[in-house]
Amino acid sequence: MNIGVLALQGDFLEHQKMLERLGARVIQVRLPQHLQDLDGLIIPGGESTTIGKLAVEFGLMEPLRAFAHDHAVWGTCAGAIFLARDIGRDQPLLGVMDITVERNAFGRQVDSFATDLDVSVLKEVDSTDRPFRAVFIRAPRITKANGTTRTLATLSDGTIVAVRQNRWLATSFHPELTGDDRFHRYFMEMAQSKHAR
Ligand code: GLN
Repeated sequence: MNIGVLALQGDFLEHQKMLERLGARVIQVRLPQHLQDLDGLIIPGGESTTIGKLAVEFGLMEPLRAFAHDHAVWGTCAGAIFLARDIGRDQPLLGVMDITVERNAFGRQVDSFATDLDVSVLKEVDSTDRPFRAVFIRAPRITKANGTTRTLATLSDGTIVAVRQNRWLATSFHPELTGDDRFHRYFMEMAQSKHAR
């Protein structure tokens, strides 16, 4: 399976390492032609304004939208922001997912935290029903999940932090920064079931 990681800025190498451990072939995407032959794409965490500006500069906005139209795409943290339709401010967004996102919703870097989440869909890839340790770094929260969007995980106060819509996945946190590969396996299943919308 060929999985791309958008490699403009952010922690794409951590995703790459985890995907390679799971047996995927990983392609770093910096130009439109790098999207050819991919089964799915991950947009990493980092700084969403920078990722957006670089995507505009490298002519990637329309190719990424076209790719997302019929492929699995997963955005973690800044990547989730980049996938959103509305973030209440002006910066380049793919606008693929019908979600509203608030940037830096938990405060500054010093307010970054880790917490255990119940994510029942992960049972599809691993029958051990243990919580997922999620790392939040100047993380966004999903304030509205509209249309066909399904909430996959919330914090104990109800804040939405993981959603799926069709073949698109958005997480406020960073599964690539822990040893737990269940989200990556879940995404690889999404990428494999090409026609499951
Ligand atoms: N705060 C960043 C942003 O708004 C996201 C942080 C992250 O990806 N860890 O783009």
